[in-house]
Amino acid sequence: MKNLYSGIRGTADLSPSETALFLDIVDKSREVIERFAYEEIVLPVLEEKGLFEKSVGENTDIVERQMFKIEGKDIVLRPEGTAQVVRYFLEKSLYKQHDFHKFSYVGPMFRGERPQKGRLRQFYHIGAEAIGSRSFYVDAELISLCSAILENIGVRKFKLRINSLGCFRDKSRLSSFIKQSLQEHKSKLCPDCKRRIRHNPLRVIDCKKEQCRAVVKSLDFKEAHLCKDCQRDFRNLLNFLEETGLKYVYDPYLVRGLDYYTNTVFEIVSESLGSQNAIGAGGRYNNLIKFLGGPDIPAAGFALGIERIMITLKESPPRYSIPVFVAYSADADSNAVYGILSNLRKSGINCDSDYCGKSLKAQMRNAQRRGVRFVVIAGRDELKKNKILLKDMKESRQEEIDIGVLAGKLNSFIKEKKGD
Ligand SMILES: [Zn+2]
Ligand SMILES: [Zn+2]
Repeated sequence: MKNLYSGIRGTADLSPSETALFLDIVDKSREVIERFAYEEIVLPVLEEKGLFEKSVGENTDIVERQMFKIEGKDIVLRPEGTAQVVRYFLEKSLYKQHDFHKFSYVGPMFRGERPQKGRLRQFYHIGAEAIGSRSFYVDAELISLCSAILENIGVRKFKLRINSLGCFRDKSRLSSFIKQSLQEHKSKLCPDCKRRIRHNPLRVIDCKKEQCRAVVKSLDFKEAHLCKDCQRDFRNLLNFLEETGLKYVYDPYLVRGLDYYTNTVFEIVSESLGSQNAIGAGGRYNNLIKFLGGPDIPAAGFALGIERIMITLKESPPRYSIPVFVAYSADADSNAVYGILSNLRKSGINCDSDYCGKSLKAQMRNAQRRGVRFVVIAGRDELKKNKILLKDMKESRQEEIDIGVLAGKLNSFIKEKKGD
């Protein structure tokens, strides 16, 4: 019989210390996101399959091979957040309320295909979307939000790669230029790219295979496809990034394979990761809302991958500490002991006790192992007098005190000893 206690391939369990790191990343991201005034929304994991076919694109890897489909239904586990935020925006007709909206989200995303090394079936994104403005200052804001988040989390050594695909017409021009130029090199491309030339030539530019990269680098298409307006916007954006001290690398080969991107696209790569080195990506999607049947409203956004960020970081300190342990002798009245524990918690003190009938000596060892500062020792005779022994583990001192004043005393001790 197959054992029932191994997790699904491509999913990850987080230990308490990994969870501490995960939550730390989320908290520190939210801190910055609030400073930039992006409102958090929680959207469902289930969405209509067609939403992603139409937005991300039918000829992209995500939609062709990687969507997590629910058998027998037109429902998928969402592969990404942008299309979903747009779906929400349109469904609620938010454009009727006011012109400009900023949203953020944190949650799991899914891939259906058999996971390869370094890829997960369930992974977490932190994302932000700004809907309703064409201004390049929005692009700049998103990029600076992205890097402020990473800095606040403590990610060092990351690089911003940036490019402009231009408006829809520029992008089609670029696409047909690439299609044409690639024809004569077709034999040198990988099988996937041979297929991509027809349906989604821009994806060839994204291919990570060495043979395809060599072909791509031999093509020259730097900014040539951009119309005057798009060129000016892109220049302005880069100038502003320089003025605000945001370092970037202009990369004309960065295209991001998703159909909905237009104009600015960017990617954050970590120098401490291997080939899967992107920790986040984003860009403009000025045509997506209209394309999904809504009004002509421009937008831009990005998402960061929490697991990728975690790999680049060292462990996080524990989320909380247990400064107090309630130990008791075998003959003590156990209702009184757990009553003390319960009262301490009501007074806001983090504390724990023994639930396995261990000897007092073993309980003291346990408290020591967990780095507890104060141990409340409840013995039969003391309890009868409504007293306990309070031991300061660090200073190896103990005193007998009334149960009635215990919580107050501990609270002031904990406050006083913080950081010592
Ligand atoms: Zn243009
Ligand atoms: Zn290829």
